[in-house]
Amino acid sequence: MEEKVLIFGHKNPDTDTICSSLVKEILDKKNGESDTKAVRLGNLNKETQYVLKYLGMEAPELIKKVEEGQKVILVDHNEFGQSVEGIEKAKILSVTDHHRIANFETAEPLYYNAKPYGCTSTILFEEFKQKGLEIEKKEAVLMASAIISDTLLLKSPTTTKQDRKALEELAKIAKIEVNQYGMEMLKAGTNLEDFTAKELVNLDAKSLEKDEIKFVIAQVNTVSIQEVLKRQEELETAMNEEIVKKGLHIFVLAITDILDSNTEIMVLGEKSEIVEKAFSVNLENNCAFLEGVVSRKKQLLPNIDKTIGNEELA
Ligand code: MN
Ligand code: MN
Repeated sequence: MEEKVLIFGHKNPDTDTICSSLVKEILDKKNGESDTKAVRLGNLNKETQYVLKYLGMEAPELIKKVEEGQKVILVDHNEFGQSVEGIEKAKILSVTDHHRIANFETAEPLYYNAKPYGCTSTILFEEFKQKGLEIEKKEAVLMASAIISDTLLLKSPTTTKQDRKALEELAKIAKIEVNQYGMEMLKAGTNLEDFTAKELVNLDAKSLEKDEIKFVIAQVNTVSIQEVLKRQEELETAMNEEIVKKGLHIFVLAITDILDSNTEIMVLGEKSEIVEKAFSVNLENNCAFLEGVVSRKKQLLPNIDKTIGNEELA
């Protein structure tokens, strides 16, 4: 078993998951706890690669599972379905997260810092403040990048005033011009050319379940929805493979235009009509345009979840 306490975010890591893991390790060290280590559960996306390259930092070590009794710290997730293999038998010391709490339980007491902010790093930023710890350039860039990523440059409806305040202060320490740095970072993440369709539909996919309906909402950011739709046929093949492999009832691929803040959804699965009801749309050629929708957490997931709940009552 790994001696150190392992810090990690969710599978299919995004920029908040990676940056917040690294920042949590830095925060713990500054707080006198040197036995923690950031790790990751999957490959870095191109946006996160951009951030680490900017800082000249190495990616955290990749782990596949944890042994029974392994001490762990979770950031940016809590649902076991999105966590590491073996999480049920691990000893969870703390959670820092900004998602709903679901499919999560522990045998022992723990620290749990949940805030409905736009980003885990905003919660960590406040922890630095509360503990009176100095924020240096490296962690400022990491936290600022995470906030820019999760809030799509403060344009997502998940954005809170705490995120705005944190980003403003972090940008000064990081010496970045938020819009310029942020656009470059976000655009780095939209370079999807050399991903296979299978990789694309898994890049940022979250597995969810409600009332025995199993579904995945995957999201890709782009500067041109049309460019992604050119690959519809192979994307659908990859989505159907996931549906069979995981026994899914619905697979939603959300193609989000980060410039115009809209989303085109591509939906497959025997229960696709739930998604049509959830957004009052008709799928045409398996697709529908959702104006002003950019957030999985606050727009896509709650509507689908609620609709499944209503279906069960009907
Ligand atoms: Mn995340
Ligand atoms: Mn997050």
